[in-house]
Amino acid sequence: ATPQPDPVVVRTADAEATQAFGERLGGMLRAGDLLVLTGGLGAGKTTFTQGLARGLGVRGPITSPTFVVARVHPSLTDGPELVHVDAYRLGGAAELDDLDLDAELDEAVTVVEWGAGLAESLSETYLTLVLTGDDERRIEIHAVGERWDDVLSALRA
Ligand code: ADP
Ligand code: MG
Repeated sequence: ATPQPDPVVVRTADAEATQAFGERLGGMLRAGDLLVLTGGLGAGKTTFTQGLARGLGVRGPITSPTFVVARVHPSLTDGPELVHVDAYRLGGAAELDDLDLDAELDEAVTVVEWGAGLAESLSETYLTLVLTGDDERRIEIHAVGERWDDVLSALRA
């Protein structure tokens, strides 16, 4: 197996800082990118996605798609749309398959909250963001695939 790069660790003091980080990362993304978000209830997954949406320039508002499971936010420019998924209520891989996310994947940036152990199968290349902490958040970013080499370098700089 290809060795994976060391994760990037970002610390955010408050919700605004988590959004600002999401916005910065959002500005680096392109169609076909998949982000898998993991971390407990209230960890900041949706807050991060709100910032990401700003960086992408998509139509809001971004709220937790816990009950609708998935929501599509069209681009306000000519960039990729945002497909925002909350896998919390999904029973498993079969129910994720039923969402047909792969149909949108190439044209979208796809973000899956609670996606660890499920959403990785959607693509050979993805970022996993692990959010922890009660006040300040620690966001650990793991990359799978060469696509992320430049992004990780930029985040480390
Ligand atoms: P999740 O989607 O992971 O369940 P949310 O983003 O919905 O979490 O909720 C995170 C909550 O924690 C929000 O109320 C947010 O204002 C608060 N919060 C406090 N500090 C931070 C931080 N550093 N980063 C993100 N959210 C924070
Ligand atoms: Mg959420």
